[in-house]
Amino acid sequence: MAIKHSPYRLNVRDLVNRPGEMREEQLTVVVDDAMGEGLVSVRPESEIDLDVRLESVHEGVLVTAEVDATAEGECGRCLIDIALPVQVEFQELFAYHSGEAIEYEVQDDHVDLESLIRDAVVLSLPFQPVCRPDCPGLDPETGLRLADHPELVTPEQRDPRWAALAGLQASEDNGTEHESGAAQQREER
Ligand SMILES: [Zn+2]
Repeated sequence: MAIKHSPYRLNVRDLVNRPGEMREEQLTVVVDDAMGEGLVSVRPESEIDLDVRLESVHEGVLVTAEVDATAEGECGRCLIDIALPVQVEFQELFAYHSGEAIEYEVQDDHVDLESLIRDAVVLSLPFQPVCRPDCPGLDPETGLRLADHPELVTPEQRDPRWAALAGLQASEDNGTEHESGAAQQREER
């Protein structure tokens, strides 16, 4: 049976049955199928950088990987295009074939990282991506992006925490009115 060539499949022949041996590999993979189905995804033709450590242990090959990618899509509030860095890590043991059903196995002296990379990346993608944490979204009447038109932002649309803070500030100012220091300042004016 011909095995489909996959860029996520690494040759570990030099490590098989040589516990204690270790090797590091850096590679860049061009994504074929998109990762993620939400507002942002790692798109086909984009690149993923992999920093992989392969350690030979008695049971198989222990794989530790750092994944660097870029997810593209749109802000969930104001709909502009955004690109978000994706950085994930995983560690998994690829065991030698033992007749038991195991999820990750060294096959034909190779380890296939595709499903691990895919799962780690997809899980890390935000469900509600935003262009910036305080993105005010779109004006409900004009559809304009409020971040570009701050004059359209009404007090109700602002973060309620700011209103609470403003109220606190006002009561503190009132408090100083009753102190002698405030009275003194008024005399000096
Ligand atoms: Zn936004």
